[in-house]
Amino acid sequence: MSKRETNTDVFLIGTGIMSATLGTLLKELVPDWKITVFEKLANTGEESSNEWNNAGTGHAALCELNYTVEKPDGSIDISKAININEQFQVSMQFWSYLVNSKRIHNPKDFIMPLPHMSLVEGEENVDFLRKRFKALSNNPLFEGMEFSDNPEKLKEWIPLIMDGRNVNEPIAATKIDSGTDVNFGALTRMLFNHLEDNGVTIKYKHSVHDLKRTKDGLWELTVRNLQTNTIERHTAKFVFIGGGGGSLHLLQKSGIPEGKHIGGFPVSGIFMVCKNPDIINQHHAKVYGKAKVGAPPMSVPHLDTRFIDNKKSLLFGPFAGFSPKFLKTGSMFDLITSVKPDNIFTMLSAGAKNMGLTKYLIQQVMLSKEQRMEELREFIPNAKMEDWDLVVAGQRVQVIKDTEAGGKGTLQFGTEVITAGDGSIAALLGASPGASTAVQVMLEVLNKCFPQHIEEWKPKIKEMIPSYGLSLMENPALLEEVHTSTTESLITTEKEPFFS
Ligand SMILES: Cc1cc2nc3c(=O)[nH]c(=O)nc-3n(C[C@H](O)[C@H](O)[C@H](O)COP(=O)(O)OP(=O)(O)OC[C@H]3O[C@@H](n4cnc5c(N)ncnc54)[C@H](O)[C@@H]3O)c2cc1C
Repeated sequence: MSKRETNTDVFLIGTGIMSATLGTLLKELVPDWKITVFEKLANTGEESSNEWNNAGTGHAALCELNYTVEKPDGSIDISKAININEQFQVSMQFWSYLVNSKRIHNPKDFIMPLPHMSLVEGEENVDFLRKRFKALSNNPLFEGMEFSDNPEKLKEWIPLIMDGRNVNEPIAATKIDSGTDVNFGALTRMLFNHLEDNGVTIKYKHSVHDLKRTKDGLWELTVRNLQTNTIERHTAKFVFIGGGGGSLHLLQKSGIPEGKHIGGFPVSGIFMVCKNPDIINQHHAKVYGKAKVGAPPMSVPHLDTRFIDNKKSLLFGPFAGFSPKFLKTGSMFDLITSVKPDNIFTMLSAGAKNMGLTKYLIQQVMLSKEQRMEELREFIPNAKMEDWDLVVAGQRVQVIKDTEAGGKGTLQFGTEVITAGDGSIAALLGASPGASTAVQVMLEVLNKCFPQHIEEWKPKIKEMIPSYGLSLMENPALLEEVHTSTTESLITTEKEPFFS
């Protein structure tokens, strides 16, 4: 049976952090617009945005070594790190506005201060880290970063990692206390609660199957109501495809030319979770290492203190792996059904170029728990099998497209906003740096899709995000102001409030 529903201004597909952020921005800018959200699962934020499915790093390039590459002349390129840090400051300002204006409450339920550290071993890596530290610590965005190659100092910073370690080669770390652990699942739920309280309709257990443009320029969604097993049709002026891994298939169904020649490559993840409170309490930081040869850059395992369910936890990972599913709750046919006549050559080229990566990911899936323990012991030399469990993380679908620099079938490690020429539909693909940059990415959606409104919206956007349109790095006084105000609004001053 099929039934047709009335018009709406905006459809958001998916209840992850991206739709939550876009919905919240629109609610502030145009409170009267009618917004409806479709979610195939029974709750908000159950896929990648859920706290157990991602690593919860507030990515500000404070510790992730893949954002600073060494150039052939030996100098360090920090441009990507600056860009990501600036984007994270945009998120911090928006979250701060939402807390100050009482749209959301109890920021410590979604953001906690946590030192971000990079740790390397071996002379070459230590040299790299020292140069990276010099390049970043001169920049106001990275103020407060410390470097040490003294094992005694490292014992103070990371006792659990140094305990039982044979220091027979150079070792060094950087540490910056302004890092954060972000519970993106909790934040997503808070944002959707706020939206529901303000008239937004969320249709759970509604899976969007198809979308097409109507003669009068609207978008009609074909949606399966999974509770009643009926088909519904709904129309709106604007659609945001925020389906995470599910976005690519929906973009393809939209038929927009901008969505052609694009493919997706799924990377799965596994975390190790510590269940021994004595061990958990010996560590207080996010510690990132260097990617192993052949590993995709966003899958460098790291040892992270996390704050989940009002408890301090300790997670190691994610170990990358391969699964053809595009969502954790997806289908084994996701990869194969994403291959279409327009992207088959792009996909085949990517396959040929990335044989090494695929082999690496398949090997990673096959690792036994003991082999994973060996990787963990590179961080915690005394780690014991009985203290750790394995938990499956979310899926990350990396974008494959043809680029000038990389040629046909180039694997991308960033996020991509794809919009129709007339701005009536937008889709978000890719997963890195991900949730941390959701606000900047959704501002990009607003810019591309609503150019006719953006001038009139600017004063409100500036009120919410004082650095909007400006570079904080080039405005140190504004950076100082933003840093002080976001810290005051978001960061709790209690010490270790969630000791388990
Ligand atoms: C292992 C891992 C570690 C990560 N670590 C970090 C990190 O440390 N920091 C960081 O900032 N980011 C991190 N990320 C990335 C971050 O989690 C994602 O970028 C972000 O959560 C994506 O949000 P989203 O809203 O696009 O998608 P999701 O949160 O995946 O939400 C998509 C929603 O759409 C729904 N949906 C899909 N298809 C349909 C359909 N057809 N109809 C209806 N509903 C549909 C899904 O059920 C889901 O609820 C990590 C991701 C992974 C997987």
